[in-house]
Amino acid sequence: MKDKPILVSACLLGLKTRFDAGDAYSKDALASLEGRVIIPVCPEQLGGLPTPRPRAEIREGGGADVIEGRAGVIDENGRDVTAAFMRGASEVLKVARLTGAAEAYLKEKSPSCGVESIKAGSNTIAGSGVTAALLERSGLTIKGF
Ligand code: SF4
Repeated sequence: MKDKPILVSACLLGLKTRFDAGDAYSKDALASLEGRVIIPVCPEQLGGLPTPRPRAEIREGGGADVIEGRAGVIDENGRDVTAAFMRGASEVLKVARLTGAAEAYLKEKSPSCGVESIKAGSNTIAGSGVTAALLERSGLTIKGF
């Protein structure tokens, strides 16, 4: 698997893609990527959302619930951004298929990228984001940072 490209949340690499136009640079993620071909992806940007953008969170569930239509993603202004989050997840999956990537390192606590944790108000709860859930059910190995 290490000879294949790996998808990485763009913000972990220091790209200013976060909702607040900041990054989430991770030395640990970078250290684990030595020698790999890295493909930076930001599902929220690929879904058509601007940067900066209002903070958003999954309501009433996790990423798998959004994919199955049981939950939605709502931003801090009350706007339903579920469609953009779904579009972003599907575009990231398309990148994986185009490049042959079978792994993804993703940013924890994000409603898109969280692998084991997402935010719910000011709390962090167990659950995954929409893109993480779609990649995992599509057979990619995902790891959170
Ligand atoms: S959607 Fe993912 S890659 Fe984009 S800023 Fe949020 S955590 Fe980072």
